[in-house]
Amino acid sequence: MTEPGRDNRSCGGTGICGRKILKPGEGLLKEMEQYAARNYVPIVKHETAELLIVLGRLVKPARILEIGTAIGYSAILLSGILAPGGRIDTIERDEDMVSKAHEYIKRAGLADTIAVIAGEASEVLACLDKTYDMIFMDAAKGQYPVFLPECLRMLRNGGLLITDNVLYMGLVDREGPVARKHRTIVNNMRSYIDTLRNDPSLDTSVLPVGDGVALSYKRMETEMDR
Ligand code: SAM
Repeated sequence: MTEPGRDNRSCGGTGICGRKILKPGEGLLKEMEQYAARNYVPIVKHETAELLIVLGRLVKPARILEIGTAIGYSAILLSGILAPGGRIDTIERDEDMVSKAHEYIKRAGLADTIAVIAGEASEVLACLDKTYDMIFMDAAKGQYPVFLPECLRMLRNGGLLITDNVLYMGLVDREGPVARKHRTIVNNMRSYIDTLRNDPSLDTSVLPVGDGVALSYKRMETEMDR
């Protein structure tokens, strides 16, 4: 039996009906997964998508910032867990990705919910002055240390920073020698994780989900010395 609000015929085949959450592998998300696979666009893995949904259900964010839109897959996924009236800002520097993301977001009927900000994230972040409940960092790994201070400036106390790809094919938490071609990124990512773990305003846990996800909870004032 089709759940109320999940009848594809009533939502133009997108699978996005009212505020019903769309799961990976369903409706428009399935089509986007196929597009991404055909065109070598990196999007979150299914298990990471499932984790994002669970985290979103817990945080119930009204404002989400994403760094790294690609074709808008994770932004559309995350729109399903927004609090009523919530909004997503997502940053992307590749023009072709920006236009594809606009196309999918429009088809999903989410043009009023998801704002794609075109530009280099380090520049865009420096100009943004908003507060977010949840931030999803999923862009060039080498720049995570540059993005981090700006993200922490805009993440509300009690908010959640999610960083994807921190274990880099499992190499980051594996002991033993690392092939020379991976050494820089592995060392950078180890240093980034150390920065998260040593930040007194954060509680961080790294999960071996997908390519590795770091969850960093930003403490409330009253939790700072506990
Ligand atoms: N979050 C997307 C999803 O799961 O659907 C996937 C994002 S993909 C892994 C990373 C994207 O970040 C690419 O489209 C890339 O062009 C973009 N990107 C990488 N570095 C960036 C930067 N410094 N500023 C803006 N966009 C960046």
